Amino acid sequence: MECQKEKNLKNCPCTSPSCPRKGICCQCIDHHREKDQLPACYFSAETEKTYDRSIKRFIQDQE
Ligand code: SF4
Repeated sequence: MECQKEKNLKNCPCTSPSCPRKGICCQCIDHHREKDQLPACYFSAETEKTYDRSIKRFIQDQE
């Protein structure tokens, strides 16, 4: 299966300017999971901009 990076980038809400994993969702998830975090697409647009990808922040974002 070919990487769907270009397609993924069209839907990626991450505003991190220089991340090499942007659009490569498998690497993005792996990177954040290793840190007990979630990727940008789990957060509201406002919270995403804080770059806090913690599970705690995700839960707060749902309230
Ligand atoms: S969520 Fe994290 S790993 Fe994924 S593209 Fe944004 S900064 Fe990179």
